[in-house]
Amino acid sequence: MATTMRAVTFVRNDTVELQEKPVPQIGSDEVLLKVSGAGLCHSDISIIGTGDDSPLIGFTLGHEVSGTIAEIGENVTGWSLGDPVLVSLMRSCGKCRECLAGRDNQCEVITGRSPTGPISPGIGVDGGMADYIAVSSHHIDPLGDLDPVDAAPLADAALTPLHAINSVRDRLTGDATAVILGLGGLGHVGLKILMAITGSRIIALDTDDEKLSFAAEHGATAIRSDAEAADKILELTDGIGADVVLDFVGVQPTVDIAIGVVRGGGAIRFVGLGGGSFDYEASNGADLPWCVNIERAYGGTRSEAREAIALAQQDKIALEVTRYSLDDALTAFDDLRQGRIQGRGVLVP
Ligand SMILES: [Zn+2]
Ligand SMILES: [Zn+2]
Repeated sequence: MATTMRAVTFVRNDTVELQEKPVPQIGSDEVLLKVSGAGLCHSDISIIGTGDDSPLIGFTLGHEVSGTIAEIGENVTGWSLGDPVLVSLMRSCGKCRECLAGRDNQCEVITGRSPTGPISPGIGVDGGMADYIAVSSHHIDPLGDLDPVDAAPLADAALTPLHAINSVRDRLTGDATAVILGLGGLGHVGLKILMAITGSRIIALDTDDEKLSFAAEHGATAIRSDAEAADKILELTDGIGADVVLDFVGVQPTVDIAIGVVRGGGAIRFVGLGGGSFDYEASNGADLPWCVNIERAYGGTRSEAREAIALAQQDKIALEVTRYSLDDALTAFDDLRQGRIQGRGVLVP
Protein backbone atom coordinates (compact mmCIF):
# COMPACT_ATOMS: atom_id res chain seq x y z
CA MET A 1 0.00 0.00 0.00
CA ALA A 2 1.10 3.58 -0.69
CA THR A 3 2.60 5.44 2.27
CA THR A 4 1.29 8.87 1.26
CA MET A 5 -2.13 10.06 0.16
CA ARG A 6 -4.06 13.10 -1.01
CA ALA A 7 -5.98 15.03 1.66
CA VAL A 8 -8.17 18.16 1.43
CA THR A 9 -6.72 20.26 4.23
CA PHE A 10 -7.91 23.44 5.94
CA VAL A 11 -4.74 25.60 5.74
CA ARG A 12 -5.82 29.17 6.60
CA ASN A 13 -8.98 31.27 6.72
CA ASP A 14 -11.29 30.43 3.79
CA THR A 15 -8.58 28.31 2.16
CA VAL A 16 -8.26 24.60 1.51
CA GLU A 17 -5.44 22.78 -0.27
CA LEU A 18 -5.09 19.29 -1.67
CA GLN A 19 -2.01 18.19 0.26
CA GLU A 20 0.10 15.08 0.37
CA LYS A 21 -0.01 13.48 3.83
CA PRO A 22 1.10 10.14 5.26
CA VAL A 23 -1.49 7.35 5.14
CA PRO A 24 -2.68 7.16 8.78
CA GLN A 25 -1.35 4.39 11.03
CA ILE A 26 -4.19 2.60 12.80
CA GLY A 27 -4.40 1.83 16.51
CA SER A 28 -5.33 -1.60 17.80
CA ASP A 29 -9.06 -0.66 18.07
CA GLU A 30 -9.21 1.07 14.70
CA VAL A 31 -9.76 0.21 11.06
CA LEU A 32 -8.24 1.91 8.03
CA LEU A 33 -10.82 2.75 5.39
CA LYS A 34 -10.14 3.28 1.72
CA VAL A 35 -12.48 6.24 1.26
CA SER A 36 -15.34 5.67 -1.22
CA GLY A 37 -16.94 9.09 -0.94
CA ALA A 38 -16.80 12.24 1.19
CA GLY A 39 -19.78 14.61 1.10
CA LEU A 40 -19.46 18.38 0.94
CA CYS A 41 -21.56 20.17 3.54
CA HIS A 42 -22.30 23.86 4.03
CA SER A 43 -20.77 23.54 7.47
CA ASP A 44 -17.44 22.89 5.71
CA ILE A 45 -17.65 26.49 4.51
CA SER A 46 -18.29 27.64 8.10
CA ILE A 47 -15.42 25.49 9.36
CA ILE A 48 -12.89 27.00 6.96
CA GLY A 49 -14.17 30.46 7.87
CA THR A 50 -13.15 30.14 11.52
CA GLY A 51 -10.04 32.33 11.08
CA ASP A 52 -6.27 32.13 10.66
CA ASP A 53 -5.77 30.87 14.22
CA SER A 54 -8.61 28.32 14.17
CA PRO A 55 -7.91 25.13 16.16
CA LEU A 56 -9.28 23.24 13.13
CA ILE A 57 -6.40 24.31 10.84
CA GLY A 58 -4.24 21.46 9.57
CA PHE A 59 -6.95 18.81 9.76
CA THR A 60 -8.27 16.97 6.72
CA LEU A 61 -11.88 18.03 6.11
CA GLY A 62 -14.89 15.79 5.48
CA HIS A 63 -17.53 14.61 7.99
CA GLU A 64 -19.77 12.61 5.59
CA VAL A 65 -17.60 9.62 4.89
CA SER A 66 -18.03 6.13 3.47
CA GLY A 67 -15.32 3.61 2.64
CA THR A 68 -14.25 0.01 2.48
CA ILE A 69 -12.11 -1.63 5.15
CA ALA A 70 -8.48 -1.80 4.01
CA GLU A 71 -6.77 -2.74 7.29
CA ILE A 72 -8.04 -4.04 10.64
CA GLY A 73 -6.54 -3.33 14.08
CA GLU A 74 -5.45 -6.31 16.17
CA ASN A 75 -8.25 -5.94 18.78
CA VAL A 76 -11.03 -5.44 16.22
CA THR A 77 -13.49 -8.29 15.64
CA GLY A 78 -16.60 -8.68 13.52
CA TRP A 79 -15.35 -6.91 10.40
CA SER A 80 -13.69 -8.17 7.22
CA LEU A 81 -11.42 -6.55 4.68
CA GLY A 82 -13.47 -4.95 1.91
CA ASP A 83 -16.63 -4.40 4.03
CA PRO A 84 -18.37 -1.17 2.90
CA VAL A 85 -19.17 1.08 5.86
CA LEU A 86 -20.45 4.51 6.84
CA VAL A 87 -18.38 6.52 9.34
CA SER A 88 -20.36 7.90 12.31
CA LEU A 89 -20.91 11.65 12.16
CA MET A 90 -20.11 12.11 15.82
CA ARG A 91 -17.82 10.52 18.31
CA SER A 92 -19.39 9.04 21.39
CA CYS A 93 -17.96 7.11 24.34
CA GLY A 94 -20.68 4.43 24.39
CA LYS A 95 -20.57 4.27 28.20
CA CYS A 96 -21.87 7.53 29.70
CA ARG A 97 -25.46 8.09 30.83
CA GLU A 98 -26.46 9.84 27.59
CA CYS A 99 -24.90 7.14 25.39
CA LEU A 100 -26.57 4.36 27.40
CA ALA A 101 -29.91 6.13 27.04
CA GLY A 102 -29.51 6.17 23.25
CA ARG A 103 -28.70 9.88 23.12
CA ASP A 104 -25.12 9.38 21.98
CA ASN A 105 -25.26 12.54 19.82
CA GLN A 106 -25.20 14.27 23.19
CA CYS A 107 -22.44 12.09 24.72
CA GLU A 108 -21.46 13.81 27.95
CA VAL A 109 -17.82 12.79 27.65
CA ILE A 110 -17.30 14.06 24.08
CA THR A 111 -19.86 16.85 23.86
CA GLY A 112 -21.12 17.89 27.29
CA ARG A 113 -22.01 21.59 27.17
CA SER A 114 -19.54 22.37 24.37
CA PRO A 115 -20.86 25.34 22.37
CA THR A 116 -19.32 24.02 19.14
CA GLY A 117 -20.72 20.51 19.35
CA PRO A 118 -19.03 17.14 19.41
CA ILE A 119 -15.90 15.92 17.67
CA SER A 120 -16.59 14.70 14.14
CA PRO A 121 -14.32 13.53 11.33
CA GLY A 122 -13.00 16.76 9.80
CA ILE A 123 -13.97 18.75 12.91
CA GLY A 124 -11.27 18.25 15.52
CA VAL A 125 -9.79 15.07 13.98
CA ASP A 126 -8.87 14.22 10.38
CA GLY A 127 -11.87 13.72 8.10
CA GLY A 128 -12.57 11.74 4.97
CA MET A 129 -11.72 14.05 2.06
CA ALA A 130 -8.67 11.89 1.43
CA ASP A 131 -7.66 8.53 0.04
CA TYR A 132 -7.74 6.92 3.50
CA ILE A 133 -9.12 7.57 6.98
CA ALA A 134 -8.46 5.77 10.27
CA VAL A 135 -11.51 5.36 12.54
CA SER A 136 -12.39 3.48 15.68
CA SER A 137 -14.27 0.27 14.85
CA HIS A 138 -16.96 1.57 17.27
CA HIS A 139 -17.71 4.39 14.80
CA ILE A 140 -18.65 2.51 11.63
CA ASP A 141 -21.92 1.00 10.41
CA PRO A 142 -22.37 -1.55 7.58
CA LEU A 143 -23.70 -0.25 4.24
CA GLY A 144 -24.65 -3.63 2.80
CA ASP A 145 -25.29 -3.44 -0.94
CA LEU A 146 -25.70 0.35 -1.12
CA ASP A 147 -23.45 2.20 -3.57
CA PRO A 148 -20.83 3.46 -1.09
CA VAL A 149 -20.23 6.72 -3.00
CA ASP A 150 -23.88 7.74 -3.04
CA ALA A 151 -24.22 6.59 0.57
CA ALA A 152 -21.62 9.00 2.00
CA PRO A 153 -24.10 11.86 2.61
CA LEU A 154 -26.28 9.56 4.73
CA ALA A 155 -23.82 10.33 7.54
CA ASP A 156 -25.09 13.90 7.92
CA ALA A 157 -27.49 15.00 5.15
CA ALA A 158 -29.85 12.13 6.03
CA LEU A 159 -28.99 11.58 9.70
CA THR A 160 -29.48 15.18 10.84
CA PRO A 161 -32.98 15.70 9.39
CA LEU A 162 -33.97 12.17 10.46
CA HIS A 163 -33.02 12.98 14.06
CA ALA A 164 -34.98 16.24 14.03
CA ILE A 165 -38.00 14.44 12.55
CA ASN A 166 -37.80 11.50 14.97
CA SER A 167 -37.86 13.94 17.89
CA VAL A 168 -41.34 15.09 16.78
CA ARG A 169 -42.52 11.81 15.26
CA ASP A 170 -45.42 11.32 17.66
CA ARG A 171 -46.86 14.64 16.45
CA LEU A 172 -46.72 13.70 12.76
CA THR A 173 -50.15 12.08 12.55
CA GLY A 174 -52.18 11.82 9.37
CA ASP A 175 -54.07 15.02 10.17
CA ALA A 176 -50.96 17.02 11.14
CA THR A 177 -49.10 19.68 9.14
CA ALA A 178 -45.31 19.82 8.98
CA VAL A 179 -43.49 22.84 7.55
CA ILE A 180 -39.99 22.47 6.09
CA LEU A 181 -37.97 25.67 5.76
CA GLY A 182 -35.18 25.28 3.16
CA LEU A 183 -34.73 22.46 0.62
CA GLY A 184 -30.93 22.42 0.39
CA GLY A 185 -28.58 19.55 1.31
CA LEU A 186 -30.45 18.65 4.51
CA GLY A 187 -33.94 19.97 3.74
CA HIS A 188 -34.39 18.02 0.50
CA VAL A 189 -33.61 14.79 2.35
CA GLY A 190 -35.87 15.90 5.23
CA LEU A 191 -38.72 16.16 2.75
CA LYS A 192 -38.08 12.63 1.45
CA ILE A 193 -37.91 11.26 5.00
CA LEU A 194 -41.21 12.92 5.95
CA MET A 195 -42.81 11.44 2.82
CA ALA A 196 -41.37 8.01 3.61
CA ILE A 197 -42.27 7.71 7.27
CA THR A 198 -45.32 9.92 7.91
CA GLY A 199 -48.73 10.58 6.43
CA SER A 200 -48.79 14.24 7.43
CA ARG A 201 -49.40 17.16 5.11
CA ILE A 202 -46.09 18.78 4.22
CA ILE A 203 -45.60 22.43 3.33
CA ALA A 204 -42.13 23.19 1.95
CA LEU A 205 -40.59 26.64 1.58
CA ASP A 206 -37.58 27.84 -0.38
CA THR A 207 -36.56 30.89 -2.41
CA ASP A 208 -35.33 28.83 -5.40
CA ASP A 209 -37.72 27.84 -8.23
CA GLU A 210 -36.03 24.51 -8.92
CA LYS A 211 -36.21 23.51 -5.27
CA LEU A 212 -39.89 24.50 -5.12
CA SER A 213 -40.60 22.32 -8.17
CA PHE A 214 -38.71 19.47 -6.50
CA ALA A 215 -40.98 19.85 -3.43
CA ALA A 216 -44.15 19.91 -5.52
CA GLU A 217 -43.02 16.85 -7.51
CA HIS A 218 -42.49 15.02 -4.22
CA GLY A 219 -46.01 15.71 -3.00
CA ALA A 220 -45.48 18.76 -0.78
CA THR A 221 -47.35 22.06 -0.94
CA ALA A 222 -44.58 24.36 -2.21
CA ILE A 223 -44.59 27.99 -1.06
CA ARG A 224 -42.05 30.67 -1.93
CA SER A 225 -40.25 31.84 1.20
CA ASP A 226 -41.06 35.57 1.28
CA ALA A 227 -42.85 38.17 3.41
CA GLU A 228 -46.28 36.62 2.65
CA ALA A 229 -45.26 33.02 3.37
CA ALA A 230 -46.34 32.96 7.03
CA ASP A 231 -49.82 34.28 6.18
CA LYS A 232 -50.18 31.64 3.45
CA ILE A 233 -49.29 28.87 5.89
CA LEU A 234 -51.78 30.18 8.47
CA GLU A 235 -54.44 30.31 5.77
CA LEU A 236 -53.73 26.69 4.79
CA THR A 237 -54.07 25.64 8.44
CA ASP A 238 -57.34 27.51 9.19
CA GLY A 239 -55.45 30.16 11.15
CA ILE A 240 -54.24 27.61 13.70
CA GLY A 241 -50.70 27.00 12.43
CA ALA A 242 -48.44 24.01 11.88
CA ASP A 243 -47.91 21.11 14.27
CA VAL A 244 -44.21 20.91 13.42
CA VAL A 245 -41.76 23.39 11.87
CA LEU A 246 -38.33 22.18 10.75
CA ASP A 247 -35.96 25.09 10.04
CA PHE A 248 -33.00 23.83 7.99
CA VAL A 249 -31.76 27.37 7.29
CA GLY A 250 -31.87 29.42 10.49
CA VAL A 251 -31.59 32.87 8.91
CA GLN A 252 -33.75 35.68 10.32
CA PRO A 253 -36.60 35.28 7.79
CA THR A 254 -36.93 31.53 8.42
CA VAL A 255 -36.74 31.92 12.22
CA ASP A 256 -39.48 34.57 11.97
CA ILE A 257 -41.63 32.22 9.87
CA ALA A 258 -41.07 29.36 12.34
CA ILE A 259 -42.22 31.45 15.31
CA GLY A 260 -45.03 32.97 13.23
CA VAL A 261 -46.62 29.72 12.02
CA VAL A 262 -46.17 27.18 14.83
CA ARG A 263 -49.47 26.33 16.47
CA GLY A 264 -50.06 26.43 20.21
CA GLY A 265 -48.63 23.19 21.60
CA GLY A 266 -46.68 22.63 18.37
CA ALA A 267 -42.96 22.03 17.97
CA ILE A 268 -40.04 23.78 16.27
CA ARG A 269 -36.72 22.15 15.45
CA PHE A 270 -33.94 24.59 14.63
CA VAL A 271 -31.32 22.77 12.56
CA GLY A 272 -29.73 25.35 10.20
CA LEU A 273 -27.13 27.67 11.70
CA GLY A 274 -27.91 30.81 9.70
CA GLY A 275 -27.51 33.23 12.61
CA GLY A 276 -31.21 34.19 13.05
CA SER A 277 -32.66 34.77 16.51
CA PHE A 278 -35.96 35.30 18.31
CA ASP A 279 -36.89 37.15 21.49
CA TYR A 280 -38.63 35.28 24.21
CA GLU A 281 -40.54 37.22 26.78
CA ALA A 282 -41.77 35.36 29.87
CA SER A 283 -45.13 37.13 30.01
CA ASN A 284 -48.65 37.07 28.61
CA GLY A 285 -47.44 39.18 25.70
CA ALA A 286 -44.95 36.71 24.18
CA ASP A 287 -45.13 36.15 20.39
CA LEU A 288 -44.55 32.44 20.94
CA PRO A 289 -47.85 30.56 21.37
CA TRP A 290 -48.39 28.68 24.64
CA CYS A 291 -46.87 25.23 25.12
CA VAL A 292 -44.63 25.29 22.05
CA ASN A 293 -41.73 22.82 22.27
CA ILE A 294 -38.43 24.04 20.77
CA GLU A 295 -35.24 22.03 20.31
CA ARG A 296 -31.86 23.05 19.00
CA ALA A 297 -31.27 19.87 17.04
CA TYR A 298 -27.81 18.52 16.33
CA GLY A 299 -26.75 15.49 14.29
CA GLY A 300 -28.28 12.18 15.20
CA THR A 301 -27.71 8.96 17.10
CA ARG A 302 -26.02 5.73 16.07
CA SER A 303 -29.37 3.93 15.86
CA GLU A 304 -30.63 6.71 13.59
CA ALA A 305 -27.60 6.22 11.33
CA ARG A 306 -28.69 2.59 10.99
CA GLU A 307 -32.24 3.80 10.28
CA ALA A 308 -30.97 6.20 7.57
CA ILE A 309 -29.04 3.33 5.95
CA ALA A 310 -32.16 1.13 6.07
CA LEU A 311 -34.32 3.83 4.48
CA ALA A 312 -31.74 4.18 1.69
CA GLN A 313 -31.61 0.40 1.22
CA GLN A 314 -35.39 0.43 0.77
CA ASP A 315 -34.89 3.17 -1.83
CA LYS A 316 -37.09 5.57 0.14
CA ILE A 317 -34.58 8.41 0.47
CA ALA A 318 -32.46 8.27 -2.69
CA LEU A 319 -30.07 11.21 -2.32
CA GLU A 320 -29.37 13.52 -5.23
CA VAL A 321 -25.58 13.29 -5.60
CA THR A 322 -23.13 15.26 -7.76
CA ARG A 323 -19.76 13.47 -7.94
CA TYR A 324 -16.37 15.24 -8.08
CA SER A 325 -12.97 13.62 -8.35
CA LEU A 326 -10.86 14.25 -5.24
CA ASP A 327 -8.39 16.05 -7.53
CA ASP A 328 -11.16 18.58 -8.29
CA ALA A 329 -11.82 19.31 -4.61
CA LEU A 330 -11.09 23.02 -4.94
CA THR A 331 -13.62 23.36 -7.79
CA ALA A 332 -16.14 21.48 -5.66
CA PHE A 333 -15.59 23.92 -2.77
CA ASP A 334 -16.12 26.85 -5.16
CA ASP A 335 -19.33 25.30 -6.46
CA LEU A 336 -20.51 24.70 -2.88
CA ARG A 337 -19.81 28.30 -1.95
CA GLN A 338 -21.66 29.60 -5.03
CA GLY A 339 -24.65 27.30 -4.49
CA ARG A 340 -24.02 25.53 -7.82
CA ILE A 341 -24.22 21.93 -6.54
CA GLN A 342 -27.41 19.95 -7.25
CA GLY A 343 -28.31 17.92 -4.18
CA ARG A 344 -25.17 16.85 -2.34
CA GLY A 345 -21.63 17.09 -3.73
CA VAL A 346 -19.46 14.04 -3.04
CA LEU A 347 -15.66 13.85 -3.52
CA VAL A 348 -14.52 10.51 -4.93
CA PRO A 349 -10.85 9.56 -4.41
ZN1 LIG B 1 -22.52 18.72 7.74
ZN1 LIG C 1 -20.93 8.94 26.00
